[in-house]
Amino acid sequence: MNPKRRPLIAGNWKMHGDAAWAAALAREVAHRTARARHCDVAVMPAFPLIPAVARVLEGSPVALGAQDLSPEEEGAFTGDVSARMLQSVGCTHVVVGHSERREHHLEGDDLVRRKIARALGAGLIPILCVGERLAEREAGRTLERVETQVRIAMQGLDEAGASRVVLAYEPVWAIGTGRTATPAQAEEVHEFLRGVVRGLFGYEVAEGMRILYGGSVKPDNIRDLMACPDVDGALVGGASLDAESFSRIVNFAE
Ligand code: PEP
Repeated sequence: MNPKRRPLIAGNWKMHGDAAWAAALAREVAHRTARARHCDVAVMPAFPLIPAVARVLEGSPVALGAQDLSPEEEGAFTGDVSARMLQSVGCTHVVVGHSERREHHLEGDDLVRRKIARALGAGLIPILCVGERLAEREAGRTLERVETQVRIAMQGLDEAGASRVVLAYEPVWAIGTGRTATPAQAEEVHEFLRGVVRGLFGYEVAEGMRILYGGSVKPDNIRDLMACPDVDGALVGGASLDAESFSRIVNFAE
C-alpha cells in the first residue's frame, strides 16, 4: 500500500444467494464498513440481484459492481448484459476477465480487451483480472503470462482510459483454494505489473494504478498483503459472503 493510492476492497459474490440474501448482506456490509475512510469498498452481486442491492446501498459509500459484461453495445445477444444496462441500475465497477470466466466460458485475452473498452466507454471502472495457473507458476512462466494478459487487455487504450482501469492479480491456484500467495509472491508480481503499465502508458498512469490482490484473502492475511508497497487492495471471493469477515478485511488498518 502506498499513501499516494487509495485502496479498493471489492467483494465478488459470484453465483451465491438470492435477492433477499444479497440485500441483507449489503445492508450489513454498509453498516459495518461505515467508518472506513481509508479505502473504497465495492460489492459485486450476480446480475439479477443488483437492483435489490442498489436500493440498499443508496446513499452509502459502498460502490456497486457487476461480475461481467458483454463486449457488444446492444442487440441480439441472448443472455448477455450490456455496459449501459449495468450503468443504468447503479453499477460503477465491473469485473472483467475473471479466471472463472476464462475457464468455464473460454474467455480469451482478446474478448477481455473488448470488454474493457466497452466498460470504459460506458463510464464503468473495469477491474481487470489476470493471473497464472499453477502449472505456469511451476514452469517459471508467471510474469510472462500476466504480462501477456495485461498487454492484450489494455491494447488500444489511451492514457486517460488506462488510468481508470483497476488491475487485479489473482493467481488461479489461490482462488477459492484457501492457498494464498505469500506477500513476497504477490509483491513480486504487483511490482512487475506496475512496470509493465509504466512501459505502456508512462510513469503517472503506473503510479496511480490500483493493483488489487485476489486469492483466498481473509481477515488474518489482509494486513500482511496490504503492507506490500504495490498491493493496493483486494478482490475477495469467499470471505466477502460473510459481512463480519468482509468488514474485518475492509477494516484491516484498525
Ligand atoms: C475471486 O474469485 O476473485 C477470489 C479471489 O476468490 P477467493 O477469495 O474465494 O479466493
